[in-house]
Amino acid sequence: MEAGIVGLPNVGKSTLFNALTSSVSAQSANYPFCTIEPNEGIVSVPDPRLTRITQFIVPQKIIPAALKLVDIAGIVKGASEGEGLGNKFLSHIRQVDAIIQVVRCFEDPDVTHVAGNVDPIADIDTIETELVLADMQTLENALPKAEKSARGGDKEAKLRVAAIQKCNAHLESEQPLRTLELPEGEANAISSYGLMTAKPILYVANVDESDLAGEHELVQKVREHAQKTGAEVACVCAKLEAEIAELDEADRAEMLSDVGLEEPSLNVIARETYRTLGLQSYFTAGEKEVRAWPVPIGATAPQAAGVIHSDFERGFIRAEIYNLDDLEQYKTEKEIRAAGKLRVEGKAYVMQDGDICHFLFNV
Ligand code: GDP
Repeated sequence: MEAGIVGLPNVGKSTLFNALTSSVSAQSANYPFCTIEPNEGIVSVPDPRLTRITQFIVPQKIIPAALKLVDIAGIVKGASEGEGLGNKFLSHIRQVDAIIQVVRCFEDPDVTHVAGNVDPIADIDTIETELVLADMQTLENALPKAEKSARGGDKEAKLRVAAIQKCNAHLESEQPLRTLELPEGEANAISSYGLMTAKPILYVANVDESDLAGEHELVQKVREHAQKTGAEVACVCAKLEAEIAELDEADRAEMLSDVGLEEPSLNVIARETYRTLGLQSYFTAGEKEVRAWPVPIGATAPQAAGVIHSDFERGFIRAEIYNLDDLEQYKTEKEIRAAGKLRVEGKAYVMQDGDICHFLFNV
């Protein structure tokens, strides 16, 4: 699962990308992401539950969940017609599972705004229009083939044609496909198209240092817009976060308290991105390591085991599961088991956020 970060020039995109991805580079060996290109980075997802677990199970290593972030440069007006780096930009977006759009809500006379003034809604519209146009083009290209197969009696193609027509009508009314609900069969029939306005999106409002709570009128407008278009919103002052990320731990705590933050906003952005990607965590906890693993919401126990290793999924027998409350109450796994709180779950079990697991499997 990966998220792509986009934004108009000078909105603070690189500042945020660098701050988000700088902290885990040293530990990247823990994360088997196939390859990391120059414009990609790993973001760890800080989870206070890891600290709670390690009060009782003291490991050699604590490993938070992580996700891949892709810095997608080059959006300008006209991208859908190939302007600027248009085509490359769009093909990158097609590949990611979720979009993070940085929108500028900070005023700074020293930082030029491409459109002349700070207007986050106009910025959002500029990018969304390009994505709507590009999706329309994708559908237009796909329609003749789908129609031909449908005429030949292909049932799947009939669903595809129906879906394309509904999507087109929705896009023509200038609405993103995120807000269109299709019957499951139709949605599946077009899932390989990589339609961009159907992807979940998180707007990151880059605010002034004086407005970390995000109460500024511009941020409120972003929230209203997001609510109407099925998007999420988070706030950050990217410049401040970049400074905080460079400090050692003691200075960082002091600076955070000076500006009135409980934790770096980067942590919040990482968690929001994770949620936007439709992920939740389960944990494995032993003396060697306590670790959070990402799993799509709704995944079954064998699928969760497969996140650790594909052999675990193939040979899955059962899972033994408890939760953090049990650990806090009974202190050790042995006591949890003695109290009958260690649940044994089979192949059909749907994972719950925060499950602490052992998987039993055949090799
Ligand atoms: P990008 O073009 O979107 O990648 O933007 P950059 O991250 O390169 O930032 C453009 C300029 O805006 C740089 O000079 C940053 O220091 C500045 N900048 C980024 N975030 C903030 C912010 O939160 N507040 C202020 N005042 N300046 C910022």
